[in-house]
Amino acid sequence: MSAPNKSFDPVEPAALAASTLEAARVDALSAIAGARDLAELKEVRLAHAGDRSPLALANREIGALPPAAKAEAGKRVGEARNAVRVALEERSVVLEAERDALMLAAETVDVTLPWDRSPIGARHPLTTIQERIQDVFVALGWEVAEGPEVEAEWFNFDALNIPPDHPAREMTDTFFVTSPDSGLVLRTHTSPVQVRTMLTRKPPIYVICPGRTFRTDELDATHSPVFGQVEGLVIDRGITMAHLKGTLDHFAASIFGEGIATRLRPSYFPFTEPSAEMDFQCFVCRGESIGNPDKACRTCGSEGWIEWGGCGLVNPRVLIACGIDPDEYSGFAFGMGLERTLMLRHGVSDMHDLVEGDIRFTLPFGTEV
Ligand SMILES: [Zn+2]
Repeated sequence: MSAPNKSFDPVEPAALAASTLEAARVDALSAIAGARDLAELKEVRLAHAGDRSPLALANREIGALPPAAKAEAGKRVGEARNAVRVALEERSVVLEAERDALMLAAETVDVTLPWDRSPIGARHPLTTIQERIQDVFVALGWEVAEGPEVEAEWFNFDALNIPPDHPAREMTDTFFVTSPDSGLVLRTHTSPVQVRTMLTRKPPIYVICPGRTFRTDELDATHSPVFGQVEGLVIDRGITMAHLKGTLDHFAASIFGEGIATRLRPSYFPFTEPSAEMDFQCFVCRGESIGNPDKACRTCGSEGWIEWGGCGLVNPRVLIACGIDPDEYSGFAFGMGLERTLMLRHGVSDMHDLVEGDIRFTLPFGTEV
């Protein structure tokens, strides 16, 4: 009786059969070739080259074989496992390259695309012209005064010598708040700021009053129900029309160009006496178009002068209403539209451009310093 075969192992060695190994190898290679991306390849690697894969199990069976069979079985298993390992590496290289190519395509920066999808805003040209005007007067030592846009009728009309039967009091011009007898209006000019200034400060007074004003006009090429004004007011001893003219000449030259002067034409306003319409010399033709068809000027219509605003010496009745002694003090006032000043200065022909907020219109002005 022979001794028991100590190396006998009851584990089924069928896993080491050549056909079984070949089937496992073919399965593995097919799965590797079918992996479409690195995630799938990772699963394939686990299934066919992991610890619990058929080939790994077969490898463990080798130890159970009789010594004489170990070498050949080991060779077969080794070759199969090696083939799978090589296939995995090759497929991995291919899939990594594909992933990198996809990533590069996805992360490509198209330098021709616009980078500023949200364009930065620009300051509105009305704001810049208002500040430019303020700067002219601040440089002369004047102060900037502001007031409310909803105003008491007394400040907007009565104090300015505009009696209740004046056409400007009619609803056709004025926006009343809630009802015509409310006593509150949207200010129709910036003049109430002058009244408030005279009531709260002692002369000498040198102020420039820019601001938004309101009238019941339809929006068209030259009108807007909301528009800007700038008014100037001086109250001091011995103020005359000569001071007014010199100030306006300096103002016109500062805004429209060196040497541009103003002229005054007789007019009437309730709050000034005497009153004048004010023109400035055309800054394009400087008057050379007058009576000269060869030098026709579109800016001034060959008139040489352009209407700008109104002015005059402050009516003594206004001074009295504001608590200032007209025997001791006199003053001048002037006012003009901000939109008109901007449109003349920059050749803007349509009010719509100023109110529509199209950034293509405002942007070129925004670079102005
Ligand atoms: Zn002209």
